[in-house]
Amino acid sequence: MSPDYIDELKWKYLGINKIIAKDLLKEARKLNQRKSINTAQRTAILELANYKCMYCGFDTVIDIHHIVPYSKSKDNSIGNLAVLCPNHHKMIHLEKYREEIIDAINKCKSHQKK
Ligand SMILES: [Zn+2]
Ligand SMILES: [Zn+2]
Repeated sequence: MSPDYIDELKWKYLGINKIIAKDLLKEARKLNQRKSINTAQRTAILELANYKCMYCGFDTVIDIHHIVPYSKSKDNSIGNLAVLCPNHHKMIHLEKYREEIIDAINKCKSHQKK
């Protein structure tokens, strides 16, 4: 094999390894994001919210929202969770009425502590 050919191979494999590494990283990130809230945490935040959207009180369909995304915070504690209806959940992700919704979440949490 000529040195040139070896060099070419080296770059080829390095390139492939980079792609594989990127894929693995992506996969790991996805897994991290999906790491689900455990039952105790889920129950605690739902009970705190009285099984209602903390903003509007809608209670037919509710989601659990991470105030700081789990991918960033790795935080599934009550302090980082909120209960929102799909409508307000979407809105907070779209940064619409974010302040108002966060406000309502905080009020709901402080209310329950008393
Ligand atoms: Zn709502
Ligand atoms: Zn969310």
